[in-house]
Amino acid sequence: MIIFGTRVRHKHIGEGEFFCPKCQANRRYAHKQAVRSFTLYFIPIFPIQQLGEFIECQTCGVTLEPAARQTRQKPAARLPSAQQDLGSMMNSIKSRLDKGFPVEHMIRELTAANLDLEIARGAVQGAIGKNVKVCEKCNLAYSPAAGQCAECGRELR
Ligand SMILES: [Zn+2]
Ligand SMILES: [Zn+2]
Repeated sequence: MIIFGTRVRHKHIGEGEFFCPKCQANRRYAHKQAVRSFTLYFIPIFPIQQLGEFIECQTCGVTLEPAARQTRQKPAARLPSAQQDLGSMMNSIKSRLDKGFPVEHMIRELTAANLDLEIARGAVQGAIGKNVKVCEKCNLAYSPAAGQCAECGRELR
Protein backbone atom coordinates (compact mmCIF):
# COMPACT_ATOMS: atom_id res chain seq x y z
CA MET A 1 0.00 0.00 0.00
CA ILE A 2 1.28 3.43 -0.91
CA ILE A 3 0.80 5.97 1.85
CA PHE A 4 0.63 9.54 0.68
CA GLY A 5 -0.70 12.76 2.05
CA THR A 6 0.30 16.30 2.77
CA ARG A 7 2.16 17.90 5.56
CA VAL A 8 2.81 21.49 6.58
CA ARG A 9 6.41 22.31 7.19
CA HIS A 10 8.02 25.51 8.32
CA LYS A 11 10.76 26.71 6.08
CA HIS A 12 13.37 29.00 7.62
CA ILE A 13 13.72 32.01 5.35
CA GLY A 14 15.50 34.53 7.49
CA GLU A 15 16.25 35.93 10.91
CA GLY A 16 17.04 39.16 12.64
CA GLU A 17 16.16 41.28 15.61
CA PHE A 18 12.82 42.87 16.41
CA PHE A 19 10.89 44.32 19.28
CA CYS A 20 8.84 41.44 20.68
CA PRO A 21 5.53 42.74 22.05
CA LYS A 22 5.25 39.79 24.41
CA CYS A 23 8.76 39.97 25.85
CA GLN A 24 8.67 43.78 25.70
CA ALA A 25 12.27 43.73 24.56
CA ASN A 26 14.40 43.42 21.47
CA ARG A 27 14.71 39.76 20.58
CA ARG A 28 16.02 37.50 17.88
CA TYR A 29 13.35 36.30 15.51
CA ALA A 30 13.17 33.54 12.94
CA HIS A 31 11.33 34.42 9.75
CA LYS A 32 9.51 31.32 8.54
CA GLN A 33 7.20 30.29 5.82
CA ALA A 34 4.62 27.56 6.10
CA VAL A 35 4.70 25.25 3.12
CA ARG A 36 2.34 22.38 2.47
CA SER A 37 4.18 19.51 0.87
CA PHE A 38 3.08 16.37 -0.78
CA THR A 39 4.33 13.41 1.23
CA LEU A 40 4.99 9.83 0.37
CA TYR A 41 5.34 7.49 3.31
CA PHE A 42 5.32 10.62 5.47
CA ILE A 43 8.37 12.01 3.70
CA PRO A 44 7.81 15.43 2.10
CA ILE A 45 8.47 15.09 -1.62
CA PHE A 46 7.64 18.49 -3.06
CA PRO A 47 5.90 21.66 -1.95
CA ILE A 48 2.38 22.13 -3.26
CA GLN A 49 1.19 25.24 -1.48
CA GLN A 50 2.75 28.30 0.11
CA LEU A 51 0.75 29.08 3.21
CA GLY A 52 2.07 32.39 4.36
CA GLU A 53 4.89 33.76 6.40
CA PHE A 54 5.34 34.53 10.02
CA ILE A 55 8.04 35.49 12.45
CA GLU A 56 8.71 33.67 15.65
CA CYS A 57 10.34 35.16 18.74
CA GLN A 58 13.33 33.00 19.63
CA THR A 59 12.89 33.74 23.32
CA CYS A 60 9.19 33.29 24.07
CA GLY A 61 8.10 31.52 20.88
CA VAL A 62 5.26 33.90 20.08
CA THR A 63 4.43 34.00 16.36
CA LEU A 64 3.46 37.20 14.58
CA GLU A 65 2.80 38.67 11.17
CA PRO A 66 6.04 39.54 9.37
CA ALA A 67 4.98 43.19 9.52
CA ALA A 68 5.48 43.05 13.30
CA ARG A 69 9.24 43.25 12.92
CA GLN A 70 8.88 46.70 11.46
CA THR A 71 7.29 47.94 14.67
CA ARG A 72 9.08 50.28 16.96
CA GLN A 73 12.50 49.43 18.25
CA LYS A 74 13.31 50.32 21.76
CA PRO A 75 15.01 53.71 21.70
CA ALA A 76 18.72 53.22 22.14
CA ALA A 77 19.04 56.18 24.46
CA ARG A 78 16.89 54.58 27.13
CA LEU A 79 18.89 52.99 29.90
CA PRO A 80 18.70 49.25 29.62
CA SER A 81 16.67 47.52 32.26
CA ALA A 82 19.41 45.03 32.61
CA GLN A 83 17.61 41.70 32.63
CA GLN A 84 15.50 42.44 29.57
CA ASP A 85 18.39 43.70 27.54
CA LEU A 86 20.85 41.05 28.59
CA GLY A 87 21.21 39.75 25.08
CA SER A 88 22.06 43.09 23.56
CA MET A 89 24.28 43.95 26.50
CA MET A 90 26.44 40.90 25.94
CA ASN A 91 28.27 42.39 22.99
CA SER A 92 29.23 45.54 24.80
CA ILE A 93 30.17 43.56 27.91
CA LYS A 94 32.46 41.38 25.85
CA SER A 95 34.09 44.19 23.94
CA ARG A 96 34.75 46.21 27.09
CA LEU A 97 36.19 43.20 28.91
CA ASP A 98 38.32 42.34 25.91
CA LYS A 99 39.68 45.88 25.96
CA GLY A 100 40.87 45.33 29.51
CA PHE A 101 37.99 46.30 31.79
CA PRO A 102 38.34 44.22 34.98
CA VAL A 103 35.77 41.45 35.49
CA GLU A 104 35.07 42.53 39.07
CA HIS A 105 34.33 46.08 37.99
CA MET A 106 32.03 44.86 35.26
CA ILE A 107 30.09 42.69 37.71
CA ARG A 108 29.82 45.61 40.11
CA GLU A 109 28.54 47.80 37.31
CA LEU A 110 25.95 45.23 36.26
CA THR A 111 24.67 44.67 39.78
CA ALA A 112 24.46 48.45 40.18
CA ALA A 113 22.12 48.35 37.15
CA ASN A 114 19.84 46.02 39.14
CA LEU A 115 21.10 42.79 37.69
CA ASP A 116 21.21 39.83 40.06
CA LEU A 117 24.74 38.90 41.05
CA GLU A 118 24.33 35.40 39.63
CA ILE A 119 23.07 36.77 36.32
CA ALA A 120 25.88 39.34 36.21
CA ARG A 121 28.44 36.58 36.75
CA GLY A 122 26.73 34.45 34.14
CA ALA A 123 26.71 37.31 31.66
CA VAL A 124 30.42 37.92 32.13
CA GLN A 125 31.20 34.23 31.85
CA GLY A 126 28.98 33.99 28.79
CA ALA A 127 30.86 36.88 27.23
CA ILE A 128 34.46 35.83 27.85
CA GLY A 129 34.33 32.25 29.12
CA LYS A 130 35.64 30.72 32.32
CA ASN A 131 39.34 31.03 31.70
CA VAL A 132 40.09 34.52 32.88
CA LYS A 133 43.52 36.10 33.30
CA VAL A 134 44.31 37.36 36.76
CA CYS A 135 46.69 40.16 37.70
CA GLU A 136 49.12 38.69 40.21
CA LYS A 137 49.51 42.01 41.95
CA CYS A 138 45.92 43.33 42.12
CA ASN A 139 44.14 40.00 42.00
CA LEU A 140 41.71 41.40 39.43
CA ALA A 141 40.34 39.09 36.74
CA TYR A 142 40.40 39.95 33.04
CA SER A 143 39.24 38.65 29.71
CA PRO A 144 41.72 36.29 28.04
CA ALA A 145 41.92 38.95 25.30
CA ALA A 146 42.98 41.71 27.71
CA GLY A 147 46.61 42.80 27.49
CA GLN A 148 47.39 44.52 30.74
CA CYS A 149 45.94 45.21 34.16
CA ALA A 150 43.89 48.41 34.22
CA GLU A 151 44.93 49.08 37.82
CA CYS A 152 48.68 48.61 37.79
CA GLY A 153 49.54 48.27 34.09
CA ARG A 154 51.18 44.90 34.62
CA GLU A 155 51.18 42.65 31.61
CA LEU A 156 48.65 39.86 31.95
CA ARG A 157 49.57 36.28 31.21
ZN1 LIG B 1 9.22 37.21 22.80
ZN1 LIG C 1 47.25 44.83 38.49
